[in-house]
Amino acid sequence: MTQCHTVAVLGGGQLGRMLALAGIPLGLAFRFLDPAADAPAGQVGELLVGAYDDPALLDRLADGAAAVTYEFENVPVAAARRVGALPAPAALEHGQDRLVEKKLFRRLGIPTARFGSLADTGLPALVKSRRLGYDGKGQRRVEREEPLREDELAEELVPFERELSILAVRGREGETAFYPLVENVHEEGILRLSRVPAAGAPQRQAEELAGRLLDELGYVGVLAVELFEVGGRLLANELAPRVHNTGHWTIEGAQTSQFENHLRAILGLPLGSTHSRPSLLVNLIGSVPRREDVLAIPGAHLHLYGKEPRPGRKLGHVTLVEPTPASEEAVRALLSF
Ligand code: AMP
Repeated sequence: MTQCHTVAVLGGGQLGRMLALAGIPLGLAFRFLDPAADAPAGQVGELLVGAYDDPALLDRLADGAAAVTYEFENVPVAAARRVGALPAPAALEHGQDRLVEKKLFRRLGIPTARFGSLADTGLPALVKSRRLGYDGKGQRRVEREEPLREDELAEELVPFERELSILAVRGREGETAFYPLVENVHEEGILRLSRVPAAGAPQRQAEELAGRLLDELGYVGVLAVELFEVGGRLLANELAPRVHNTGHWTIEGAQTSQFENHLRAILGLPLGSTHSRPSLLVNLIGSVPRREDVLAIPGAHLHLYGKEPRPGRKLGHVTLVEPTPASEEAVRALLSF
C-alpha cells in the first residue's frame, strides 16, 4: 500500500461515489469506468467514460490499481474477469440471473420462495425477468395460468411480515463480520426506508445463511442479502454482490461503514467493527428537500449524490442516528414517508 493506492471501480454511480468518500481518508485514490459522462463518482475521482466491454478502457481502468471492484451488478462478467475484480465474478454470475441465484440458495439449503414455472409456484404468483430486473422493474403479478417467456421466472407470492436485509463482509483470509439486520420498506418496488436494528429479528439465522453464501462464493467484500420474514423464518429473496442501499446508514450509524469495510476487504486490510447505533435511513427519490431543513433536525445527516432530478430516481438519502420520537417525526414531516 505504500505506492499502489488506487482503487479501480466498474461503475460510477452513487455507490462508487460513497466508496471513494470512505476511501479518501485512508489515503486511497479512485478511478471509475462508466458509460455516462456525468456519472456521480466523477466528482470524487478520475472517470473513464465508455462501455464496460471496451478492452482498452478496461486495461486503463485496472492499470496500476491496488484492487479492482464493481459497484453495479450488471457489469459484464467477462469485463470483471479481465480486470481481476473482487468479489470474484462467480458472485456476479449468480446475482445477474434470478434462476441461477435461486438454485444456489436451494443448493446451500437456504430457504427461498417456491420458484420455477407457474405449476411450481401456484397462483397468484410474481413473474420476474431473470436478468436486469431491479427496483421491482420487469416484474408482474399473475393471477391466472399463462405462458412464461424463456427469460422469465415465476415466484410464489410470499405473504411476508417484513422485508429485511443482512449486510455481510468477508476478508481475503476468510474472516467475516455482519451488520445488524435491517428492516426495509419499499414503495413501488423502490427502497424508501431502512431501520436498524430490526426489532426482534433473527440475527443468528441471517448470519448463518449469509455466511454460507460468503464461503461458497469464496467472497471478498461486502455482500447484501435481501430477505423476507415469515413467521420468524427467513426466506432469501436476492443477493447483491456489492455495497447496498439498505446499508447506507452505516456511514454514520456503524463504527465502520459498509463502504470502508468493502475497501478494507478487497485490499486485504483488517476488517473494522460493525458495532452499530440505532438508525433510520430515508431515500430521497425524485426530489430533494432543502439542505437547511434536513440539517436542522438533531441527528440527521444529508447525502446528495450529485444527480439530476428525475421522477423515481434515487437522488440522495437522509440518515437519522439514534432517532427520538421528535426527530423521527421531523424527518417524517419533511420527507412525508
Ligand atoms: P426484487 O426485484 O426481487 O427485489 O423485488 C422487489 C420487491 O417486490 C421486493 O422488495 C418485495 O417487496 C416484492 N417481492 C419480490 N418478490 C416477492 C415475492 N416472491 N413475494 C412477495 N413480494 C415480493
